[in-house]
Amino acid sequence: MPDIRTHPHPPPHPPTAPAAPTTPPEQAPRPAAAEPAAPTARLVYDLADGRRDMADLLGGKGANLAEMTRLGLPVPPGFTITTEACRAYLRTGAEPPALRDEVSAHLAALERRMGRRLGHGQDPLLVSVRSGAKFSMPGMMDTVLNVGLTDDSVPALAARTGDERFAWDSYRRLIQMFGRTVLGVDGELFEERLETARRAVGVDTDTELNARHLRGVVRQFKDLVREHTGRGFPQDPREQLDLAIRAVFDSWNGERARVYRRQERIPHDLGTAVSVVAMVFGNRGPDSGTGVAFTRDPATGHQGVYGDYLANAQGEDVVAGVRNTVPLAELERLDRRSYDELLRVMEILENHYRDLCDIEFTIERGKLWLLQTRVGKRTAAAAFRIATQLLDQGLIDADEALRRVRGGQLSQLMFPRFDTRSRPATLATGIPASPGAAVGAAVFDSATATARAAEGEAVILVRRETNPDDLNGMLAARGILTSRGGKTSHAAVVARGMGTTCVCGAEELDVDPVRRRLTTSDGTVVNEGDVLSIDGGTGDVYPGELPVVPSAVMEYFENGCVLPPDADDLVSAVHRLMTLADRARRLGVRANADTADDAARARRFGAEGIGLTRTEHMFLGERRGLVERLVLADTDAERAAALDALLPLQRSDFRALLAAMDGLPVTVRLLDPPLHEFLPDLTELSVRVATAEARNDQADRADRADQTGHDACLLAAVRRLHEQNPMLGLRGVRLGLVVPGLFTMQVRAIAEATADRLAEGGDPHAEIMIPLVGTARELEIVRADAERTVAEVEAERDRALSLPLGTMIELPRAALTADELAASADFFSFGTNDLTQTVWGFSRDDVEASFFAAYLEKGIFGVSPFETIDADGVGSLVRVATERGRATRPDLKLGVCGEHGGDPESVHFFHEAGLDYVSCSPFRVPVARLEAGRAALAAP
Ligand code: ADP
Ligand code: MG
Ligand code: MG
Repeated sequence: MPDIRTHPHPPPHPPTAPAAPTTPPEQAPRPAAAEPAAPTARLVYDLADGRRDMADLLGGKGANLAEMTRLGLPVPPGFTITTEACRAYLRTGAEPPALRDEVSAHLAALERRMGRRLGHGQDPLLVSVRSGAKFSMPGMMDTVLNVGLTDDSVPALAARTGDERFAWDSYRRLIQMFGRTVLGVDGELFEERLETARRAVGVDTDTELNARHLRGVVRQFKDLVREHTGRGFPQDPREQLDLAIRAVFDSWNGERARVYRRQERIPHDLGTAVSVVAMVFGNRGPDSGTGVAFTRDPATGHQGVYGDYLANAQGEDVVAGVRNTVPLAELERLDRRSYDELLRVMEILENHYRDLCDIEFTIERGKLWLLQTRVGKRTAAAAFRIATQLLDQGLIDADEALRRVRGGQLSQLMFPRFDTRSRPATLATGIPASPGAAVGAAVFDSATATARAAEGEAVILVRRETNPDDLNGMLAARGILTSRGGKTSHAAVVARGMGTTCVCGAEELDVDPVRRRLTTSDGTVVNEGDVLSIDGGTGDVYPGELPVVPSAVMEYFENGCVLPPDADDLVSAVHRLMTLADRARRLGVRANADTADDAARARRFGAEGIGLTRTEHMFLGERRGLVERLVLADTDAERAAALDALLPLQRSDFRALLAAMDGLPVTVRLLDPPLHEFLPDLTELSVRVATAEARNDQADRADRADQTGHDACLLAAVRRLHEQNPMLGLRGVRLGLVVPGLFTMQVRAIAEATADRLAEGGDPHAEIMIPLVGTARELEIVRADAERTVAEVEAERDRALSLPLGTMIELPRAALTADELAASADFFSFGTNDLTQTVWGFSRDDVEASFFAAYLEKGIFGVSPFETIDADGVGSLVRVATERGRATRPDLKLGVCGEHGGDPESVHFFHEAGLDYVSCSPFRVPVARLEAGRAALAAP
């Protein structure tokens, strides 16, 4: 640990001759938080001593100011107080003892370098005191400009610059900013006084106030401060500095900052750095000004001159919107030299950072100063375009281009978007849960949604929250809107799985399903049938129909990832990066698909097979009656008849799937959910039976009695099968072992479908997957039975069939005994949804709505474990099972078929865990391909 005494003063660094440009070796930003610093660690760094990769300690702003200084760019000198100092302050409520001396030493060095003293003498030095955390939190914390001005130094500043107006303007800015952020005086009060002054003089803008007017404003501002704080405005420059530093520390925990961090998932314990920077003045007349610039358009990624400029102004005026800015291109006309210099600097920065940079600058009497830069935020479209542009320019290589785009951005590009150029008013804004732009008539229950959609009407299903009973309505709807629940609520998860637009948790909306209407916070009522537009990318809800712009990227995927000859630059960029990802990735990507249509789409999207077919979906609808017969069967003959009736239906389902995925693997999971899910609801049925019996007492019609008899049988079955915790009950392989003939029928259907496809000249690759296995014995029994059945079909059809049989790993016991299971399994597929439920001991349906929000709020979860794999808990079992399974059988194929298979972060985990493939819903296949490619890249 460096001893502070070895750094008594930073090396002298004259502002007029910045250090010669040195290009430091590129280093990746460190992902981990700053190492805990011992009490002797340095708390202050000169701007010349820091560098870009020190954002943990110096904040993004401080690190990049240092980097620009090292590059020899015109940055006003200064120093940065570390985030560690802030953390110590936040922990103890007091500045760490060493801080005062270190600030003194750096301030003294700064003063020597500038040949001026803070707030003193003929030519007083002024500084800005600026917040800046590791992650950019734009405008969420405080910054104070012009620190050091006092009653005494204003005249000195006026005399030195020969500009009295400028001096008084700077002073009133200081008192206003300092008063608000450091002393806690309501900012509105200052604005009111200023407004009154403007009105008294009869002008519209502050720039029209002269020195005398501003002097009056200063007097009033000082009165305000005295009124609200009980003491005068601090006249000791050093006290101003210390108070401002503390205020910046405190602003880390301001309301705005906290809310922003929660939203952006930025940890609350990082703290902010504080940069103290010599002031340069954009408010010194028409040859001065301030602005922001982007090296490329952050909205589209196109190259050009983008930004805004405001003449005769200080930084805060741009954001405050006091006066209108002009487009940056105007600067060329206003001040050609500074403009050319700015373009030169922009090029240097872009080449250095090899990325879109966003820059704050100030021009003081024709001299350009850089006050900030960072790698700029951008839209999804810009990210894809910029990555390929930089690749073409040779600034980055293919791996780096791939690192620059994310799966989340890709999915945004796949959904149609609203055209909001006319800035339509919203009804409410909820949580953007599943992207897309959906327009349709509001309906308030699943049945109406299904009925209206069947008539060809586009509908938006509006619910307080959804549950499994809403599934049909959700499938039928163009979009789903709920007033409760977060990103992992039932509505959100199901909608994402289906690729349906969803806004959830729009709490301003009062949804009344009984009266079939919703009411907004301002009392607007939307009735059933009224048209709504919902934006799943932003969470906005609009009345009426907004025009949509179709997504060319989606068309590209729907076309089988073939680049059309007239493709625009965005589609070309996506195609190129997808190609790079496919080349880089080691993980296979399959899809979860239950129908031939889904399978065909998945294939167009680039899936390399099906990782999960849920056969339960094949038991619904009209086939329900057959399942009822199976459940009600009293004799072997009745049961066999029911199974015989199901067999041909299953066979044709599988045949269609195998045809759609010809040449690629299709993993079919045998029936998983408890049988009672296919029977009527217990309460409903009880009521039906009770009322029917009452009626039968009066009229004893034979057919009615028949019906009642059937219902009574059904009721008995439902009662028999009723479970307190169906998730942990008679389901999966347990069902297969106790309902004679069920799995045999399914295996036979798979084998026959395979034989049929072979006979047709196809290339079927079915794989049989057994759900919810906990012990090797279960698997051995099922396997022996399946092998017998397959052998029968082989004999009947006179064909050899190759049907691998594997198991899901979705119980902790299965993971722990994977070495034993592997003896009877050709493959494992991790069912990470059930595995998450069983590892955590909570059932998703029961707990997500009840306490996840509180857990996220308390930081117990950073994100729901159903959304992103819990790497430490569930993930360890994945690793254990992988290791033990492969110990028994080195060629064991390993995949994942939970929702997690399409989640970017989880895909990276599965890559690292050494799995062979992930499987996800067809719409997430492109995202999984992209992320699998990114996961395979070596660290930069
Ligand atoms: P934010 O993080 O909110 O952008 P900044 O610390 O960047 O806050 O400062 C706010 C404004 O003040 C910016 O426009 C910035 O360019 C300007 N500013 C900061 N320091 C100085 C300085 N030393 N001289 C002139 N303007 C400055
Ligand atoms: Mg800034
Ligand atoms: Mg499961």
